[in-house]
Amino acid sequence: MKIAFIGLGNMGGPMAANLAKAGHQVAGFDTAAPMPEGVTKSASAAEAATGADVVITMLPNGAILRAVAEQVIPAMRAGAVLCDCSTVDVDSARAVAADAQAAGLGALDAPVSGGIGGAQAGTLTFMVGGDDAAFATAQPLFDIMGQKTVHCGASGAGQAAKICNNMILGVTMIATCEAFALADKLGLDRQKMFDVVSTSSGYSWSMNAYCPAPGIGPKSPADNDYKPGFAAELMLKDLNLSQDAAASAGADTPMGRQARDLYEEFVEREDGRGRDFSAMLPRFNRRNG
Ligand code: NAD
Repeated sequence: MKIAFIGLGNMGGPMAANLAKAGHQVAGFDTAAPMPEGVTKSASAAEAATGADVVITMLPNGAILRAVAEQVIPAMRAGAVLCDCSTVDVDSARAVAADAQAAGLGALDAPVSGGIGGAQAGTLTFMVGGDDAAFATAQPLFDIMGQKTVHCGASGAGQAAKICNNMILGVTMIATCEAFALADKLGLDRQKMFDVVSTSSGYSWSMNAYCPAPGIGPKSPADNDYKPGFAAELMLKDLNLSQDAAASAGADTPMGRQARDLYEEFVEREDGRGRDFSAMLPRFNRRNG
């Protein structure tokens, strides 16, 4: 396929490289990042999109996505598919999809889970919103960049799944960290705490796969001085998206709100920026109730 890839940062760079490695013809555009191996540099987003079968975007936020979509949609050939893999607000995802469809294009929101490691290894999970025809066109590309794809529903459903998943992740990481901090104060050995909780009803991905206590459980950013991993400010971004979505949909999400407030404090007013989101554990350890 002829693919345009716009936004070649930490995630987009390796994803585009994997598509090129699989034999697709990839034209890239980024305002700052260098071209990954096998990707041909274009002078603009519109130039990259011209003649492409699929245009993939991997950008920082919804405002940038809307601006890039305005440039690429008029340049795309009828029937081509615009596939956004960024994590953005549901409203931006739906607005961009509506503009693309009005121009005779297919449109997908296809945010990912799996981080930079998953992007490099081609093991991302894609959660996808959009119609069946557009999904069928892009599916072979998801299979190259990822190991699991779920077609979640109509436009916006992929972003909805992403922010709901990450709201659970933020809440369970905080719960796991505060429980470890309590266990410490109660004199409970951290390894024993892990051995019990990871096989009892308090288990979760945060405890079992990404344990925030160094030296306990599988290797995680805690074992690397809390270098990200998944940075606290990216978790804050996703929790803000879930709270915006909850406000616009009229959903009551008190735990999500509390998690957002805690990560906001951690990132904006404490030392959380640039640290892994599991560094909530040393934060709780430093505090007294
Ligand atoms: P990044 O900042 O490394 O990459 C974004 C790229 O977009 C940058 O290279 C930037 O130069 C480029 N860009 C900005 N404006 C542009 C424009 N107008 N035209 C072309 N290029 C432009 O960010 P990232 O970590 O690659 O994340 C990208 C998206 O993926 C975000 O929405 C993020 O929330 C999501 N995401 C990230 C991770 C992660 O672990 N990093 C995991 C899952 C999802």
